[in-house]
Amino acid sequence: MNIMGQKLECGKALVIGAGIAGLMTARVLSDYYEEVLIVERDLLPTEPESRSGVPQSFHPHRVLPRGRIILERYFPGYVDTLIELGAQPTQGESTITVNKYGSLVNQPADKDASSSRVLLEWVLYQRVKQISNVQFLPNTEVKGLITTDDQQTVTGIYTKSRDELKTESSLTADLVVDAAGRSSKVIKWLEALGQQVPEPEILKVPLGYSTRYYKIPSHVDQNWKSFFYDTQAGEGVSAVMVHRIEDHIAGATIASTGGEHYPSTDITEFEEELKQLVAPEIAEALEQLEPYQGPRGYRLAESVRQHFEKLESWPSGLLVLGDALCSFDPIYGQGMTVASIEAETLAACLEEQISNPQPDFELRVLNRMQQALEPAWWLSSVSDLRWRGVEHVYSEPLKGIAFAQKYIDLYTKKATALALEEGNRALFFTLFMMNGLVLPPREFFNAHLLTMLLNDNGSVEEQRLRAELAEEDPQKFQARIDELIPSFEAAYDDRLKEMLAANYQHAAAE
Ligand SMILES: Cc1cc2nc3c(=O)[nH]c(=O)nc-3n(C[C@H](O)[C@H](O)[C@H](O)COP(=O)(O)OP(=O)(O)OC[C@H]3O[C@@H](n4cnc5c(N)ncnc54)[C@H](O)[C@@H]3O)c2cc1C
Repeated sequence: MNIMGQKLECGKALVIGAGIAGLMTARVLSDYYEEVLIVERDLLPTEPESRSGVPQSFHPHRVLPRGRIILERYFPGYVDTLIELGAQPTQGESTITVNKYGSLVNQPADKDASSSRVLLEWVLYQRVKQISNVQFLPNTEVKGLITTDDQQTVTGIYTKSRDELKTESSLTADLVVDAAGRSSKVIKWLEALGQQVPEPEILKVPLGYSTRYYKIPSHVDQNWKSFFYDTQAGEGVSAVMVHRIEDHIAGATIASTGGEHYPSTDITEFEEELKQLVAPEIAEALEQLEPYQGPRGYRLAESVRQHFEKLESWPSGLLVLGDALCSFDPIYGQGMTVASIEAETLAACLEEQISNPQPDFELRVLNRMQQALEPAWWLSSVSDLRWRGVEHVYSEPLKGIAFAQKYIDLYTKKATALALEEGNRALFFTLFMMNGLVLPPREFFNAHLLTMLLNDNGSVEEQRLRAELAEEDPQKFQARIDELIPSFEAAYDDRLKEMLAANYQHAAAE
């Protein structure tokens, strides 16, 4: 049965990788394919534990509001399961958020839980394992693609077991989905088929993470506040997060963008840096925690958005999604949510294909996924391109970056003042929902809000925004915004807007 309650049978699908993208994809495909097999190079865990194929799982992973909506749709009650397994409920929990205009205490209204990535993946894995037509083939590396003689259709994969026998084998399928993450070999495989892979879009973002975990004694637990130091806050260090995961454990992460500074993994240096960056009450709480694990680092050089849809002739029977299609700067917490959006997009395309079969199904899916991931790519680029050392490398420049940066600056200043002076968080909520990939950017960048922003008594931020505008006639603001900011229309169709608005109003009312 698919999510619409219909029984559909499309044959056999193979998914490469049992990360978040692979699990989401298998969940979606299980509604349409008689058999779904996930081939994973790691041994699969027998309890929530990290594995070598997902080294990033040591570091904090949060799900954005849009991701939560999708995960709840496909894995109903997953937040409750996380909480049952020891994750921390976050509804109403105080979080200190610091940006360059001030420091606010927020209490999330939505039901959610903070956990490690390991526990989240475990919960989704357990759910997928229960689906009768999904099987796993662990400890097996995918080595290449099998195609028809004309190389136009992918019909399966070559595999090699990772045990001492190193058995080489092949598996056939009607659809192969590569969800192998940043280490995907799909480009090499496509090139082996004689394909010329189009240039990817690259955001050169030298990035360093350092994370340390602590046990929280119960007297600190009762008065716990999480802490988020915003990416606009300073030079050198771009974000600091102090948050809870499951089992009364807290994580502290320092992240730096631009490559001029990397946070230390030396215990003393890490603690020194952390103390200087967090609010005094958080520093005091940190002193009472018991060191548990780390600090451990993680470095990345770039975010990469592949443009497979531009390949001269994309082979049928093959799709790519998750980090293998587009990876993001992890600071904005977008990767798992975008992987979920892509899997949901695949479901929508399968529905359409079944009711109205068309040629080039896979190419259409790739095009739709590009449209769906575009707001996330643009929003993280807007933020990252503030930093020295960050560069966008592609034949087509990104639209509206400088204008958006100045607009967001002035907006954040207004939103912070309104929250601090009047306790009104409505403006913040709008920004949060756009960054959470729920609110279409056009509902944030519009003439109505721009008019409100250009009334800041000639502040430096207002002058900068006016300078970007060139056109000062308020009657022409909307036309100017339409010219500057991408519409992202294809990323939010009417059905989606309606569904997201329902969730959005529900969240706003809570
Ligand atoms: C430091 C850091 C922090 C992050 N924080 C966040 C966050 O807060 N929120 C968020 O949403 N995202 C975050 N991300 C991004 C997030 O980890 C990914 O976007 C997300 O996991 C989706 O990835 P994926 O499933 O495509 O790939 P992965 O999660 O990397 O999974 C790929 C899987 O494929 C398997 N595999 C690879 N090659 C083969 C092969 N040849 N054969 C068989 N199996 C194979 C691997 O073993 C692995 O299991 C962060 C990333 C980093 C680096």
